[in-house]
Amino acid sequence: MTEIDWHARARGETLSVQNYIGGKRVDVSGNVELLKHAPHSGELLYTFGQGDAADVDRAVSSANAAFADGRWRDRSISERQAVLMRLGDLVEEHRERFALLECLDVGKPVAHALHDDVARAMHSLRSAVEDIDGLTSMASPKSDDATYQLRKPLGVVGAIVGWNYPLSLAASKVAPALITGNSLVLKPSEFTSLSATLLAELAIEAGVPEGVFNVVHGSGAIVGDRLARHPDVRLISFTGSTATGKRLMKASADSNMKRVILECGGKSPYLIFDDYEGGLEELAGDVLATGYANQGALCVSSTRIIIQDGIAKKLLPLMVQQAAAIKPDDPLSETTSFGALINKDHFDKVRGYIKSGLDDGATLLCGGGTVREESGGNFLTPAIFDDVSPDAKIAREEIFGPVLSVFKFGSEEQALQLANDTEYGLAAYVATGSAERGARLAHVIDAAQVLSIQSLSGNPGAPPNGVEPHKQSGFGFEGGVEGLAAYTAATLILKFQET
Ligand code: NAD
Repeated sequence: MTEIDWHARARGETLSVQNYIGGKRVDVSGNVELLKHAPHSGELLYTFGQGDAADVDRAVSSANAAFADGRWRDRSISERQAVLMRLGDLVEEHRERFALLECLDVGKPVAHALHDDVARAMHSLRSAVEDIDGLTSMASPKSDDATYQLRKPLGVVGAIVGWNYPLSLAASKVAPALITGNSLVLKPSEFTSLSATLLAELAIEAGVPEGVFNVVHGSGAIVGDRLARHPDVRLISFTGSTATGKRLMKASADSNMKRVILECGGKSPYLIFDDYEGGLEELAGDVLATGYANQGALCVSSTRIIIQDGIAKKLLPLMVQQAAAIKPDDPLSETTSFGALINKDHFDKVRGYIKSGLDDGATLLCGGGTVREESGGNFLTPAIFDDVSPDAKIAREEIFGPVLSVFKFGSEEQALQLANDTEYGLAAYVATGSAERGARLAHVIDAAQVLSIQSLSGNPGAPPNGVEPHKQSGFGFEGGVEGLAAYTAATLILKFQET
């Protein structure tokens, strides 16, 4: 396989940010310009307007008109399936371009963008195509049914997403919205604006009619807020922080009681018991891979490492040794496994957490330092804190950067108490030699998904059904048949029957 010169590709790429409304690119409005700097070099990459309410109104009215005349909603399910399959294929065909855009916007290694982000997006599109059959078989009438349930699209869906996986988060909203026959207005994060308009253009190429899939760029406070309050939007499907999720609930209550699906923050535990029988080197590697994925900017990152006293003595040194070997490097190089943090503000915020951990008396075992300063990028070595008080800021708040906190326990009861000592509930990982313990804990840990690990061989696979966040990580299913149902409204059809 020939190696790609990603730097040359980056130089050859025209980086422009435009809205996509009614099937056409249009400039983003706004009298203030947003500046995007490259995470890996600090160079100015592109600028665009902060957007205004009128941009959103135009996009919603385009989506509304497309819904009203039935140009997409009235297509048969099999036609919609064919179009979304084609969109999945087009994403695959354009995977190198998408990988480059994600790498430049987020600072993530280009190899990860190519193999992980693009694959996640294709999976969202293709699994919606499969899952819609499950929804229709549940809902559609059998010929002699006097009573049956219809599942109707809602109308205009507003999708608001964060910056950590821009393409894949967008696809996770676009796929369920479109396969169920809705129209859509997508608002990407203002920090990562490159891939959304390309996705919308490919959707047209795949056969989605103009006006069905619109994109509006700009600031959350202006563009996102208008979308969240718009009277013609029937659902806001959101992935982002808990603080913004709460604002969206208020905006719904203050406007038209639109539905909200909220996929928000996390502070997931990785529990490790003395009876774990697999290899410790490998386990240390998995703890770090789960905690530091995407430079720690992954909602299901395991950031609280809860280790039983016996195994801690052997496992912690291995974790430290492996973490210290991770070298943040140029994300445009194919051999890089750990890239740059998204922007200076986030970089400073994560460094602030390192300082706060130290101020609160935790022991920094490794990392937390800046490297490659000469590059102008935001490079931070991945950190592990030991002796962390459960009340410390680093133990309680989502850092969204490469910072792990270690807690020790003696009994299973203490482990469970530590695991659930959070307002978040996205994921949990349990490494134990006892399948019974894994199952027992899965019933009582507050998390949308619990991975019970007896050994790390094989692959847990994609969840067969959707997942639903717990506690302040949000609510509403994402993925699976239930995830599609959330983009529809049920109508029960009743008929008089002769008696
Ligand atoms: P964020 O909440 O700051 O922004 C997310 C989106 O909301 C952006 O498009 C932003 O412009 C918009 N927004 C901001 N203020 C708004 C407002 N007042 N009204 C409407 N829209 C507004 O989140 P972020 O920093 O971009 O993303 C990181 C967060 O996302 C983390 O908390 C992470 O855990 C979470 N996340 C969750 C999942 C999940 O599946 N649960 C997946 C990925 C990321």
